[in-house]
Amino acid sequence: MSYDPANIFARILRGELPAHVVEETEHTLTFMDIMPKADGHALVIPKEDAPNIFDISDDALQKLITQVKRVAKASLQAYPGNGVRVIQLNGSEAGQSVFHLHFHIIPSADGMNFGFHGGASADDSSLADHARRLKEALATLE
Ligand code: 5GP
Repeated sequence: MSYDPANIFARILRGELPAHVVEETEHTLTFMDIMPKADGHALVIPKEDAPNIFDISDDALQKLITQVKRVAKASLQAYPGNGVRVIQLNGSEAGQSVFHLHFHIIPSADGMNFGFHGGASADDSSLADHARRLKEALATLE
């Protein structure tokens, strides 16, 4: 699949659009989902241009999944009493709506009872609060 450099996450990576950034590494960016499916819903993306999991280099994917594990650990710590859903969609047929590869990290306590899309936008201060909460948990990890 071809990569559209005008997609929203590419624009966030270039600093053209704002985001509540939780952590930036050399190869990844972690920020809050603007329409969270639960409090603390974060997205982890690679800096490499790849629309989906099939088109990213193995090297970049390895670095990405290592960061996904790190953020999932922080999520468990920041939102005690929850499990963590790690979700990644490939293709519009699978429900993907932004075509820059991303992993969803979602604190979840509702068993298998979840609808995925169609949430309302959260307000800015709520997103900032949850970004801070995850940042604090990340700061305690190695
Ligand atoms: P997908 O359906 O492609 O797996 O997920 C895309 C996610 O991006 C959705 O959960 C949606 O809420 C989120 N999203 C869409 N536009 C923006 C945006 O401008 N900023 C942020 N932070 N998230 C976005």
